[in-house]
Amino acid sequence: MTTPEMRRSALEQAGYNTFLIRSEDVYIDLLTDSGTSAMSDYQWAGMMLGDEAYAGSRNYYNLENTVRKYYGYKHLIPTHQGRGAEHILSQISTKPGDVVPGNMYFTTTRYHQEHAGAKFVDVIIDEAHDPTALHPFKGNVNLNKLEAVCKEYGKDRIPYLSLAATVNMAGGQPVSMENVRQVRKLCDKYEIPIMLDATRAVENAYFIQQREEGYSHKSVEDILKEFCSYTDGGTMSGKKDPLVNIGGWLSLNDDGLAEKARNMVVVYEGLHTYGGMSGRDMEAMARGIEESVEDDHMRARIGQVEYLGELLLEWGIPIVQPIGGHAVYLDARRFYPDMAQDQFPAQTLAAELYLDSGVRAMERGIVSAGRDVVTGKNHYPKLELVRLTIPRRVYTQAHMDVTAESVLNVYSNPKKPKGLQMVYEPEYLRFFQARFTPLG
Ligand SMILES: *Cc1c(COP(=O)(O)O)cnc(C)c1O
Repeated sequence: MTTPEMRRSALEQAGYNTFLIRSEDVYIDLLTDSGTSAMSDYQWAGMMLGDEAYAGSRNYYNLENTVRKYYGYKHLIPTHQGRGAEHILSQISTKPGDVVPGNMYFTTTRYHQEHAGAKFVDVIIDEAHDPTALHPFKGNVNLNKLEAVCKEYGKDRIPYLSLAATVNMAGGQPVSMENVRQVRKLCDKYEIPIMLDATRAVENAYFIQQREEGYSHKSVEDILKEFCSYTDGGTMSGKKDPLVNIGGWLSLNDDGLAEKARNMVVVYEGLHTYGGMSGRDMEAMARGIEESVEDDHMRARIGQVEYLGELLLEWGIPIVQPIGGHAVYLDARRFYPDMAQDQFPAQTLAAELYLDSGVRAMERGIVSAGRDVVTGKNHYPKLELVRLTIPRRVYTQAHMDVTAESVLNVYSNPKKPKGLQMVYEPEYLRFFQARFTPLG
């Protein structure tokens, strides 16, 4: 428990950035679902079976088999977390002047694409940028947009299509099986590989089961396997779907590309049979993957997110709809309709929520979007959101009630804040460490 005085002082010390608040000063932590899930007894038992040999750990082979079984990819390159995989994939596939199309950017993913010299081009459907559009698959790729990029640049300048499932920045929105099938066809026509951001692909599979015709009788496990079969490889943050606190991987079907990745992993991550993870970490991840594809687990996980979202909708609070897989996204523009985007409405709202109750959320708007690498100008994303991210198997519905009540408090508070001014801006991924002071 925290007091208003404690929270005021903690927030000031943190420069009004929830990433800079100490976890001890947080009451309910909805900053992220990254590495914050609770491991099961089965996973903890696996930790006791860690084979900590430098080379050829049996836990690596178990993880490799597990990824092959559930995701279907041929080669597994372990990494310390998702961005390690993104780094390696970008370095082995991309050259300066390349173009990477994708269904909305993700912060670290786009950073590594740009760091390798490429330009990211958004090819998601327009509905994804509208928080009120009720499309069931707002993560879908717009095939016309994608084809235009393919025609303009061709396979020599497009190393791959970056396909995310579910789409985090759009509000945890899924891609349909029909869409990925069409995308595959189009990419085959232009000979462009598809690299999946598989971080939340199991959640995506659950949405396909719930929403897409012909899939209601299929298991999440089978749907996941089919979905991945339309792609050529993927990057994974083990900290999300796979239910572990740290870890990740890059997986590839192409032998030549996998060889390049194995050459590179030893420079940046560790040997190709651990890549920055301990043996016990790899065992816990293999077991986490097995658990993550259970239908009941996904129903409980996404059901809890829906519980919070439905409560907020009932009380008339503006959120992104449909409710996403891993989080409920507050629409900060509708909380503060008079606040300019340069005054950071979502950053302000996350600060107000923390002040009200000690609930910690995160900004997903102009701060996260950063600057254009060429012009140095701010990106102005249509979506200006605050993400209430639910860790898996951690909180109860009572915590969701407390959170919803605090959101309502902030929403109905007649005294509206004036916004924030950024007083420190880091060069890369600024949202993590930027500092602000209140205006007015
Ligand atoms: C978290 C995340 C990443 C990056 O993974 P890390 O393990 O945090 O490095 C990439 N893509 C998506 C969609 C994510 O949610």
